[in-house]
Amino acid sequence: MTVETPNRVIKQHLIDPEICIRCNTCEETCPIDAITHDSNNYVVDVDICNSCMACVPPCPTGAIDNWLRVVAADAYSLEDQYSWSELPAEQELPAEAVETSADEAAAVSDEAAAAVADNDVTSELEGLPSTAAGASIPPWSAAHPYVNLYTHKNIATVTVAGNYRLTEADTDNAIHHIVLDFGELPFPVLEGQSIAIFPPGTDEQGRAYHARQYSIASPRDGERPNYNNLSLTVKRVTTDYDGKPVSGVCSNYLCDLQKGDKVKVIGPFGNTFLMPNLPHSNLIMICTGTGSAPMRAMTERCRRLTKNKAFNGKLMLFFGARTERELPYFGPLMNLPKDFIDINLALSRASDKPKRYVQDLIRERADDVLELLDDANTCIYVCGLKGMETGVIEALKDTVEGAGRNWPEVHAQLKSQGRLHFETY
Ligand code: FAD
Repeated sequence: MTVETPNRVIKQHLIDPEICIRCNTCEETCPIDAITHDSNNYVVDVDICNSCMACVPPCPTGAIDNWLRVVAADAYSLEDQYSWSELPAEQELPAEAVETSADEAAAVSDEAAAAVADNDVTSELEGLPSTAAGASIPPWSAAHPYVNLYTHKNIATVTVAGNYRLTEADTDNAIHHIVLDFGELPFPVLEGQSIAIFPPGTDEQGRAYHARQYSIASPRDGERPNYNNLSLTVKRVTTDYDGKPVSGVCSNYLCDLQKGDKVKVIGPFGNTFLMPNLPHSNLIMICTGTGSAPMRAMTERCRRLTKNKAFNGKLMLFFGARTERELPYFGPLMNLPKDFIDINLALSRASDKPKRYVQDLIRERADDVLELLDDANTCIYVCGLKGMETGVIEALKDTVEGAGRNWPEVHAQLKSQGRLHFETY
């Protein structure tokens, strides 16, 4: 047990509210629930945080990586942090301040490492879905991603080149395909990365809205090959997660954009949800709704490579939606050759078919999924609403165990080899 030293100085872990895009990644990643949020800010509980650093690498913006030296007894409370619109300046420390010794710091960091390791084991045993369900490294052959080229201090202004609705007009699920032109601005991206967009206006406290993150739906060489543009797949949010009517700030702004409008963008973000860069790699893609955005990017990348005989791997897609009419990119998807992509549609509200979810289809196709999993060149990508993680992990687990194999071992291998990736929101 540590005896509190008066004026002991600690490095308090804090999140910069100006840069944070409220993507929830840190809260999901923290193995000991030290990070939480309200409608304003994401905050770190100084009484829980053990500086294990697990949350730092996944943060897309770097907002997470702030450490202020404070006297432990005067550490910022959660209430303090909830009220901030920017980080406070570093406190002037009293002359008699006692810095944490190197030995003490090492002990804390050992404890932290042990806590993370323990937690990993627990979640493996219980099969808990979290970001820990996926890899924290990219596939080894992935191309090098550029991240944070544009930040809130260096915002890119880009032009809308097109905006149209993907889902049928008579459905209450409006998903738009939006093309942004970057003109002369260098903005290199890879499939699986995202950008964030600042909606104009201010919140109830008069503060500028924070940026919202969107997956890139086009391949690295552009929505139109060799044009400096990219596309997004945006769902107009009209109800919250509980079904209550709301008007999502950024999604409505984006869905209403007209050609020629200017948009404020930061990014690119993401350095793990990336595709392998080998001609004989295989991709298992599992998505629902706008989770199809990175899958479209990856599929289109492979399609363009195939045309040049530079790709001969296998693509297997599990795509969930309520009905075909609400499935973004349904038409173009169905036109892809069967020997190029193995498409499995799970429809939960089709009038003429029984209710199916992506996990049902994974189980039905267990033999083929297993064959691909056994190939070290196969990577799995899961994208869509957070709720799908549990079902997908359970289905993969059943698939592996159905063949008499050990899921925790296979799962650990998929993660350590950067072959299983989640992007859920
Ligand atoms: P807000 O004004 O922020 O929220 C309004 C209310 O709606 C709140 O109560 C909120 O809890 C609720 N809400 C927020 N999002 C949803 C939702 N999806 N469904 C139901 N209720 C919701 N969105 C896309 O459309 N396409 C993408 O490709 C995409 N990629 C993402 C990638 C990442 C890594 C992350 C973290 C998020 C992604 N999102 C994507 C979600 C996106 O960032 C926004 O959260 C979403 O557009 C809602 O923002 P808003 O400003 O319209 O709603």
